[in-house]
Amino acid sequence: MPDIEIKNMVKLFTVLLLSEKGQHGYEIMKEVEKRTGKKVSPGQMYPFLKQLKMYRYVETKGRAERDKQAYYLTPEGRKFVARLSEKFGDMFEIAIKPRLTVCAHCNCEIYKGGYKERINGKLLSFCCENCAKGYRTLNTQ
Ligand SMILES: [Zn+2]
Repeated sequence: MPDIEIKNMVKLFTVLLLSEKGQHGYEIMKEVEKRTGKKVSPGQMYPFLKQLKMYRYVETKGRAERDKQAYYLTPEGRKFVARLSEKFGDMFEIAIKPRLTVCAHCNCEIYKGGYKERINGKLLSFCCENCAKGYRTLNTQ
């Protein structure tokens, strides 16, 4: 049986989150949404979890209804994650890090707060007002 292919970010994040801790399908969905910034539907999540289970990469604990079950990586599942990590290399590292916003002007990382301004119809994030001003000067007439 060929190994599961990870072809999108939703699947990648799902296995990453499971490698952090066991959790419910619903929790995984919410967390994947948070990290990818995209809406994830149960139709994307549950068939994949089912597939992982079929390969014995995860096991479930809890009651039979899908929303009540928590998913845990098995030792086989951990090996699968290790194979993925080799395959994806740096991409993998980047994916696990929480997303940081970067100042549109000076490229520094904005940890919290920052300054937002709409320039040329686009809402941009800056670390401070001065950067917004600098960007505006360079990018508008
Ligand atoms: Zn800046």
